[in-house]
Amino acid sequence: MSEVQEREVVIIGGGAAGLTAAMYAVRYGLNSVLLTEGAPGGQTATAATIENYPGFPDGVSGAELMARLTQQAENTGVEMESVRANAMERDGERWQLLTDGPSYSAAAVILCVGASPRRLKVPGEEELFGHGVSYCATCDGFFYRDRTIAIVGGGNTAIEEALYLADIAEKVYVIHRRDELRADAVLAQRVEDTDNLEVIWDSVVTQVNGDDLIESVTLHNQKTGEDSTLKLEGLFVSIGFEPNTEFVADLLELEDGFIVTDQRMATSQPGIFAAGDVRVTPLRQITTAVGDGAIAADSAHKYVSERR
Ligand code: NAP
Repeated sequence: MSEVQEREVVIIGGGAAGLTAAMYAVRYGLNSVLLTEGAPGGQTATAATIENYPGFPDGVSGAELMARLTQQAENTGVEMESVRANAMERDGERWQLLTDGPSYSAAAVILCVGASPRRLKVPGEEELFGHGVSYCATCDGFFYRDRTIAIVGGGNTAIEEALYLADIAEKVYVIHRRDELRADAVLAQRVEDTDNLEVIWDSVVTQVNGDDLIESVTLHNQKTGEDSTLKLEGLFVSIGFEPNTEFVADLLELEDGFIVTDQRMATSQPGIFAAGDVRVTPLRQITTAVGDGAIAADSAHKYVSERR
């Protein structure tokens, strides 16, 4: 039988919420570990510039902010394991966690597993992923210097990424399904002020075309009903995120896939807490994720202390 590690608290997910929860857990003197699939940093690490995180008057790149937070966690004494959590089940008063490494037995678990980029789910998208289709502008934007590209979506992420890409590419189309952006007004204004950015309104991508590399997308205008072809060399998809809750779907109360919590970050199961983008919340930001992480660790501390 594989090794089982006993912990008071296991935190799953190495983004802003998880790193914060893990730091607080250490400071509360809890025997804890942070499980993070791959390097810590989460979604934030892929953001080009963050202008609304307090304390950085000139903004900060997502990579730098998360490198600093990871360093701070390490300095605090957070123990991190690079493993993927696959399943969770109750074991008496405790929770058993199965991973692709060791198994864990925990009195409390804090889920900070965030969300993954939503797919368009149209023909050609999967086949041309990595061949012109991307879900991360800051990761792949560099490859499109002086090219013609498009980004799908009208939210804050899409528009921030479009503005970032406009500095690199020759021409950037924003393909949005409505006639109004969802993004904050300050970002929408910047789109208007950027010469090589053009919004294609009321339109959805119905097909991604190309053999080995992307060549064009087929667009459907939802108002006029017309179909058209847009030639391009890269397509960035930025249409929101889906919560990474598959492995707890049978265990916890969810709403649209997101974990339902109370204001103490407690889920529908005793001893399981959730923080950050993965939970039902009115605002998904780094500021709210770190706040959630701190509250979740405080709740886990109380929960564990009462049972010692
Ligand atoms: P989001 O706000 O949910 O926006 C998703 C965008 O994609 C929307 O414009 C939506 O269209 C569109 N969309 C969704 N499904 C689609 C589909 N199947 N086909 C075509 N278009 C589709 O997601 P997000 O921009 O990633 O932001 C996530 C959260 O993080 C938000 O709360 C956001 O405010 C926050 N955030 C904040 C900042 C900041 O404050 N600087 C930066 C990044 C993210 P509709 O508009 O028609 O729904």
